[in-house]
Amino acid sequence: MNIHEYQGKSILQSYDVPVQEGFVAETAEQAVVVAEELNRKFGTEIFVIKAQIHAGGRGKGGGVKIARSPAEAGEVAAGMLGMTLVTPQTGPAGKVVRKVLVARDVYYKGESDIKEYYLSVLLDRKRSSYVIMYSTEGGMDIEEVADKKPESIFTEVIDGTCCLHDFQKRTIAFRLGLSGRAFLEMTRFLGGLWEAFINSDASLIEINPLLKTSDDLILAVDCKVTLDDNALFRHTELAAMRDLNEEDPTEVEASESNLNYVKLDGDVGCMVNGAGLAMATMDLIQLSGGKPANFLDVGGGASAATVEAGFRIILRDTSVKAILVNIFGGIVRCDRVAAGIIEAYKSIGDISIPVIVRLQGTNAVEARELIDNSGLRVIAASTFTDAAEKVKAALS
Ligand code: GDP
Ligand code: MN
Repeated sequence: MNIHEYQGKSILQSYDVPVQEGFVAETAEQAVVVAEELNRKFGTEIFVIKAQIHAGGRGKGGGVKIARSPAEAGEVAAGMLGMTLVTPQTGPAGKVVRKVLVARDVYYKGESDIKEYYLSVLLDRKRSSYVIMYSTEGGMDIEEVADKKPESIFTEVIDGTCCLHDFQKRTIAFRLGLSGRAFLEMTRFLGGLWEAFINSDASLIEINPLLKTSDDLILAVDCKVTLDDNALFRHTELAAMRDLNEEDPTEVEASESNLNYVKLDGDVGCMVNGAGLAMATMDLIQLSGGKPANFLDVGGGASAATVEAGFRIILRDTSVKAILVNIFGGIVRCDRVAAGIIEAYKSIGDISIPVIVRLQGTNAVEARELIDNSGLRVIAASTFTDAAEKVKAALS
């Protein structure tokens, strides 16, 4: 699960990690109040208004703007709220801005003695370890840095104790070229960041840019956090940070029905049980000349109701030209799935696109009988190849 920048920063702050201070606002009036508050608390006179969407590259798309008074902060916020922000990471459709972060300008006292760095904590699956990746080149895409200046990217591997050792904090601060107070601030920053990462069960915290101010403070200016979905049950306060506006509505509906659904851009809808079979089925569709319109795993314990919900979700996608149901009856019985398909047909009304069904395993014979006797226009397939040929025929 991804969260917003302002939420990520609040996690960091709860571990005493210094961030560019600010508060979230949902209206222009709130933005003015926040700016006035920052002025009272810190004497802030220049503000940064940042669009809160689950995508980076906001700076390039006009989602990060400066304001020189609380009134101007309100005007900038008014312009940003409700706009569709297109950045290199949102895709051409963009994302609607519903919240802005009003923060203190931290690039104060000119740009000469400030410095931007890149820093992220993430899981490196190849190394089976957490790593801290960091670079002297902050503020731009790390992919771009990797391309143009790979020698400026460093990695610190966290060992099996899952501790970030003091010598590692010093190595990082040293390689970033810091000294004096900034060096100490960086080691302190890293200690808190690591605690925040490990205690939140995060899989990524990316800070780009990480800033050294002109008075040698180290601050998180940006913050991207991904939390491990499988650990959210033990962090109710973090689970509450979920913003459904940022997620695909169909995927949200699917997760409410316990379906594992990912929308893709092909033309053949597929409903499968088990992730492995689902992947194989997508390959099968590809081989038969189609393109999968989705990944849908109904799970091992699919009921007639889940199958029906799955059908509804697949059919909402107007690019779907055929549906392939590929179920191996293990724990889930094929006749139950067949009953779900029949129910879906009845309740959704006339399904006009071809539906190819392959049911194998427990109670496959009973399932076939149910479907044959239902009078529905369902094309039954027995083997993988058979299913592939029938999908091909349905598409032509
Ligand atoms: P992203 O573009 O979505 O990654 O958003 P960031 O939070 O990284 O901000 C983009 C850029 O805005 C940063 O790289 C900075 O150059 C700039 N920026 C962010 N905060 C401030 C600030 O307080 N003052 C000034 N002058 N620029 C800022
Ligand atoms: Mn950034």
